[in-house]
Amino acid sequence: MIYKVLVIDDSHSISQSLKNLIESNVDIKVYIAKSKKESIDLLLEHKGKFDIILADLGLPDAPNGEVVDFMIKFSIPIIVLTGSDQIDIEDKFRNKNIVDYILKDGVTALHYASTVVNRIIKNKHIKVLVVDDSKTFLRQTSDLIDRYKLIPLTSTNGEDALKILEENKDIKIVLTDYLMPIMDGIELTKRIRSKYTKHELCVIVTSSDSNSRIPSKFLKLGANDFLYKGFSKEEFFVRINSNLEILELFDNMKNKINKDYMTGLYNRRYFFEVGKKIYEENKKLNKSIAIAILDIDKFKKINDTYGHSIGDFAIKEVARVLNEDIMDSTLISRIGGEEFCLLFYNREKEEIEKLLEVIREKFENNIIKVENFKFKYTVSIGCSFEYGKNIDEMMQLADDGLYDAKESGRNKVRYR
Ligand code: GH3
Ligand code: MG
Ligand code: MG
Repeated sequence: MIYKVLVIDDSHSISQSLKNLIESNVDIKVYIAKSKKESIDLLLEHKGKFDIILADLGLPDAPNGEVVDFMIKFSIPIIVLTGSDQIDIEDKFRNKNIVDYILKDGVTALHYASTVVNRIIKNKHIKVLVVDDSKTFLRQTSDLIDRYKLIPLTSTNGEDALKILEENKDIKIVLTDYLMPIMDGIELTKRIRSKYTKHELCVIVTSSDSNSRIPSKFLKLGANDFLYKGFSKEEFFVRINSNLEILELFDNMKNKINKDYMTGLYNRRYFFEVGKKIYEENKKLNKSIAIAILDIDKFKKINDTYGHSIGDFAIKEVARVLNEDIMDSTLISRIGGEEFCLLFYNREKEEIEKLLEVIREKFENNIIKVENFKFKYTVSIGCSFEYGKNIDEMMQLADDGLYDAKESGRNKVRYR
């Protein structure tokens, strides 16, 4: 999906700098208009389908921000960029339905503008749950959340909020009131923290109570942030942003630690850490699991014939094929150079056997075209349904199966 951003500015150097900064995100394309007229033409040409507009207030044919008043009707998020630092003008525009008001006082401002653009685009898939017994507060805050293109959900007490959380795994922020009937903010924060860490789900508390001990009480319980009611739209936006950024930073870090850089699959360390838990839980409940090890046949020959980078491509192809067929209830990882491990749980034995056969056949029929080369390769798979004494022993059984598959001519699935 390519997102479209409209930059309206009569200064060539500013719009070019913005274009370069914003397009460093390859999923965004920037269109430039130098006047109100040009911006309207572009808007018509693209049938109003822009994801964000950055608008200058002083244009040759619209010297007093008229372009903002015009664009606001299309409910596209607008970021105002201006050279004027007059407070009354800022107040006037901040009261309109805009996302942000940025003073163009140097290159930092343009950098900031591009981070806001990226934020708005990422927001499109993020849900924020607002919990408050005041319907007015819920409505006003939802409007604000919607303005930043986040998806607002609402609830009037903690108990109901927990239910909504259960049903919406994509909620990233809970904005909760302190005093509420049925279940208050304190209890809600405690209950959330017993299930989700600070880095998985962000809790921001809002209260009009001026007791200075309340914020620290919440922060000690694991709330991420505190906002006194009566907060400005700008403060709200900045706090939401910085909290989302921390969550994302943590997410990126987790991916770097747990995933294999080349294929994006889980790495060996993660496989053993999580695999062990899945193994033990299922064994205790007497539920069956399966471990399969897949290895590319004669992979050395691919490297020797086409070179190491084509070999890498062939390895990435395994990840693509595996992701195509296996989604739920499987832990997929790259445990070695051209060796992959699959741990299946909550699945029937026959289902797994069929699936492994489908995978084997897929490689057999998959012709790889890369650069000027055209080739294919097969895979051997060893699988075990036997628990053994521990996960290492179960892995060994699957590996014995793999050995059988290689010994009996490769391109086979064998069980132990
Ligand atoms: P077999 O059918 O018995 O599995 O033969 P094979 O040649 O596939 O197996 P072997 O384990 O002897 O060789 C694996 C080769 O994979 C050796 C190693 O140089 C290569 N390899 C390991 N990691 C990578 C990698 O990340 N990229 C590339 N291109 N090659 C790798
Ligand atoms: Mg091999
Ligand atoms: Mg090997």
